[in-house]
Amino acid sequence: MRLVFLGPPGAGKGTQAARLQEKYRIPQLSTGDMLRAAVKAATPIGLDAKVIMDAGGLVPDEIVVGIVADRICEPDAKSGFILDGFPRTVNQAEALARMLRARNMDLDAVIELKVDEAALLARIEQRVKDSIAGGAAVRADDNPEAFKARLDAYHAQTAPVSAYYAEKGSLKTIDGMAPVDAVSEAIAKALGG
Ligand code: ADP
Repeated sequence: MRLVFLGPPGAGKGTQAARLQEKYRIPQLSTGDMLRAAVKAATPIGLDAKVIMDAGGLVPDEIVVGIVADRICEPDAKSGFILDGFPRTVNQAEALARMLRARNMDLDAVIELKVDEAALLARIEQRVKDSIAGGAAVRADDNPEAFKARLDAYHAQTAPVSAYYAEKGSLKTIDGMAPVDAVSEAIAKALGG
């Protein structure tokens, strides 16, 4: 099973992708997590990405495409994967299509979580509170200014990716405002059980 999750920041992609990872025993590949790991390890990519990520912008396509191309070749991604946070531009979607075609692979589905944007900032604020309460680090981009930039980047660059997949017939749109379990059920149904 090869899946892509689309949706604005705070839509619940990571939560649902983590559940599917358990269910299908395929890795959740979050480009946000991979980039944060690169930032933490202070690799050359991480050092370049940090400033962009903290401001809520998009890291250049060639960097992210390179990371994903390497990652999907790892042995654990052989029988499938869930992409969370990638592709975020039509250019990335086209690069992914080329990568998969070169391996005679295809996507099984693209799941888009639709949410009421007025609710998103509140969700991010809750994530910050949960991180603090749980003793976890708060993401540098979980503040109102960077969040607005992330949402703007989503509208300008990622929303067209939904149209790209809709045209290909692989897009499944799910109501992301329902409770977490109900969203999981709707996704399971869309994937055929
Ligand atoms: P969220 O979906 O909550 O905004 P992510 O963890 O998916 O957060 O991504 C965090 C940041 O990492 C993004 O704002 C962006 O700077 C960078 N990033 C992640 N994935 C990509 C991508 N596919 N292309 C460009 N930048 C990316």
